[in-house]
Amino acid sequence: MSIIKFDYIIVGAGAAGLNLALAMNADTFFEDKTILILDKDQKNKNDRTWSFWEKGKGKWDDLVYKTWNQGIVKGKGETIILDLKEFNYKTLRSADFYTHAKKTLQKPRITWKTEQVHSITQTDEGAIVTTDKANYEAEFAFDSRIPESYSLKDTSYLNIAQHFKGWVIETETPVFDDSKFTMMDFDLKDGESTSFTYILPFSSTKALVEFTYFSPDLVSESTYDDFLKKYISEHLRTDNYSIAETEKGIIPMTNFPFEDYSQKHIIKIGTAGGWVKASSGYSFKNCERKSQSLIKFLKSKQEFYKDSTPGKYKHYDNIFLEVLTKENHFGEELFYKMYKNNSIQTIFRFLDEKSTFQEDLKIIMNLSSSPFIKGFIRHLRSGFNT
Ligand SMILES: Cc1cc2nc3c(=O)[nH]c(=O)nc-3n(C[C@H](O)[C@H](O)[C@H](O)COP(=O)(O)OP(=O)(O)OC[C@H]3O[C@@H](n4cnc5c(N)ncnc54)[C@H](O)[C@@H]3O)c2cc1C
Repeated sequence: MSIIKFDYIIVGAGAAGLNLALAMNADTFFEDKTILILDKDQKNKNDRTWSFWEKGKGKWDDLVYKTWNQGIVKGKGETIILDLKEFNYKTLRSADFYTHAKKTLQKPRITWKTEQVHSITQTDEGAIVTTDKANYEAEFAFDSRIPESYSLKDTSYLNIAQHFKGWVIETETPVFDDSKFTMMDFDLKDGESTSFTYILPFSSTKALVEFTYFSPDLVSESTYDDFLKKYISEHLRTDNYSIAETEKGIIPMTNFPFEDYSQKHIIKIGTAGGWVKASSGYSFKNCERKSQSLIKFLKSKQEFYKDSTPGKYKHYDNIFLEVLTKENHFGEELFYKMYKNNSIQTIFRFLDEKSTFQEDLKIIMNLSSSPFIKGFIRHLRSGFNT
């Protein structure tokens, strides 16, 4: 089979691959470069809803489906109101993002193919990508396939998943206050596990309602369904609704070293590249940030791409993961205290890895919980070196 050459190959037209392709398309450095985008799927379905917070205006505002300036966390029998102030919580439907990307990337130098990638092999000069239909070569391949050696069952790492099932429901009568999204509602839990309901109200009669776990073990499909039905019936107090859409997800929350799977010419991106914030499961905004850092690297003369989470945040993530992996029953108290004792602005800065050490200390000490503080002191004693 002959080899078709491009300057860059992006494997996976998901959040990471398309963020990267759109960022390359917007930068004049790449205007004479050829790009191949490969995905096994057509990317024409709304397979997920991405939400993120940001200050003021943002890159995706034209595509944003709904924005909130207030949120709610429910835990320990209390309702905490999150006043986002200068931040907004924004939601994008993936179908809108895919459509926008397909339209924007319709250029002679950008080729989009629906093919299943079987392997990517590094050579001295670049990478060879083999699909079910052809072989392609480029100086760099950006790969969003999760490394085969990653497994949720691998106990040599701190390893849990954010796993959930959500329904977009339409109710016959007004049920939702669409001025506030629900970040976490612990009023309904599966036993003692860290499990909660997440709600994005699009109007008074339409919302995405998701039953979510941060836990080491997955559950059966019917378990999510039972909790969703129970929550809607007993907490939203309605039985007259229809399910317009369904979404499911299993997002790794782990200290598995995804970034170590990148090579000189094959760079892992997205979830596969460790772009998911280990302690929160968020990654859409990270796809935007990390794409910019990749672009900087491609324009530089550096030999190897390296852009990992700053050391101190790795430790904080590990402390969160340690508690949730080893003491999963502790989740409600952990998050209740975090949201109760800190402003949402400080929490967002902490999760965005932009907080000061004083803010970090405040967040950690305000958790005033033995497992968390013990973990912090252990990491502090190690000089944040392990
Ligand atoms: C339902 C759901 C909701 C989420 N909501 C949020 C949220 O609100 N906020 C947030 O920040 N994060 C959220 N996430 C987490 C994260 O942002 C997403 O998972 C995000 O899509 C990850 O981007 P990615 O590019 O790594 O993976 P994906 O978007 O999954 O893209 C990977 C692409 O690679 C393709 N692919 C895989 N293997 C091959 C192969 N062998 N050959 C060809 N193509 C292949 C897939 O078809 C896919 O299109 C959510 C995740 C899910 C699943």
